[in-house]
Amino acid sequence: MAAGEVLIVGAGMSGMVAAINLAREGHRVLVREAEESYGGARIYNPSTHVTPIDPIKTSEYIGIDVSPVFHKVIKCPAFFHQTEIQFPVYSVYGVERGDRPGSLDTLLYGECLNAGVEFEFSSPLKEEEVPRLKPGTIIACGLIPRAYKMLEIPFITVSMWMSRGEIGFSDYAWLWFDECVTEYGYLSAVNNYYFDLLFSFGRRVDEKALRRYRDFALRHQGVEHESWDYQVGAVPLAVPDNFRLFRDGLIMCGTMSGAIDPFMGFGISGALVSGKVAAMAVSDPEGAQREFDRFMRRFRRSFYLKEAWKRFVRPHVGLMEWQIRLLGAERINRLIRLTEREKPLLPMPFAIPGFGHVATH
Ligand SMILES: Cc1cc2nc3c(=O)[nH]c(=O)nc-3n(C[C@H](O)[C@H](O)[C@H](O)COP(=O)(O)OP(=O)(O)OC[C@H]3O[C@@H](n4cnc5c(N)ncnc54)[C@H](O)[C@@H]3O)c2cc1C
Repeated sequence: MAAGEVLIVGAGMSGMVAAINLAREGHRVLVREAEESYGGARIYNPSTHVTPIDPIKTSEYIGIDVSPVFHKVIKCPAFFHQTEIQFPVYSVYGVERGDRPGSLDTLLYGECLNAGVEFEFSSPLKEEEVPRLKPGTIIACGLIPRAYKMLEIPFITVSMWMSRGEIGFSDYAWLWFDECVTEYGYLSAVNNYYFDLLFSFGRRVDEKALRRYRDFALRHQGVEHESWDYQVGAVPLAVPDNFRLFRDGLIMCGTMSGAIDPFMGFGISGALVSGKVAAMAVSDPEGAQREFDRFMRRFRRSFYLKEAWKRFVRPHVGLMEWQIRLLGAERINRLIRLTEREKPLLPMPFAIPGFGHVATH
């Protein structure tokens, strides 16, 4: 491509945020996308996500008003086996991904067209093309394992059962912890659409685990879905210094840059802010690196906390359940509520890029 032109690989949320910002600066922007149209990878979307985020400050930072598609989560019970406490929802929002009206991708795609961004769909980047990519090309391929392999980025696998579809409620989520997965099961519902996910990092999730989760959902929430799909994805959480803005002259963007919370896997906020940072990296690499470092400064701490949690705490859900019962769920909920303020009295282990520091320069 000629000077002043930027190629972005991946028309997901971070790629489109980068594209809009660059097109507005006068660059000619071409986005190559593996799928037939916008809406993210079809193996994952449509879907709904929940995430701690400040939609207004994030919108100000990225220069795109995404606040209309973020919906405040009203309640999110967290279950340890069958024992329930309340996950703090002070800054937690639900958002829809995919190509349905009301999704984040639909909003961003509309902004891309307004800004004059060009798209080339059904155009996956292939391994043999990687050495020929122009320096400054933006890579925003999300959680697709093939992309990590071809760019030699260390990753761990995410194995997951997923279900999605219309449902009769919104702005609600739940979390479920059990020994049968290394991570958790969660349902979120936005715009009367649900996404249910049961996932593990680095190991398979067998059908027995899915049966256990389905049994929980039916007994505790009265919810049962007919169909479930199995997929394997990738996350850059293999090593503590996995996060990089630049790799061999290419600009990393979104989850591929490592902009994801190691503790819970929250990646929405990181994808949005890193899209803006990747756009900045085209003309001001040093300034962009400073912004990236600022957003990622808690990554290592959260990575090591997660390692400790994985080894010493997470395998013992029964023990956690027993402790909740001993202390009393109400007392624990009161403690959790101390985290629900702008300056939390109790720190959370999360390191969500952009969350809490989008406005502080
Ligand atoms: C199933 C699932 C559930 C999640 N739940 C949550 C949640 O509840 N809360 C939260 O905060 N985060 C969640 N995350 C994480 C969050 O969704 C991601 O971190 C975020 O979407 C990543 O944005 P991105 O821009 O990096 O990539 P994406 O938005 O995923 O976009 C990547 C794009 O690149 C394209 N692509 C891939 N390979 C190629 C190629 N070779 N050539 C061209 N195009 C390519 C894909 O088709 C896709 O369109 C979840 C992730 C998954 C997979």
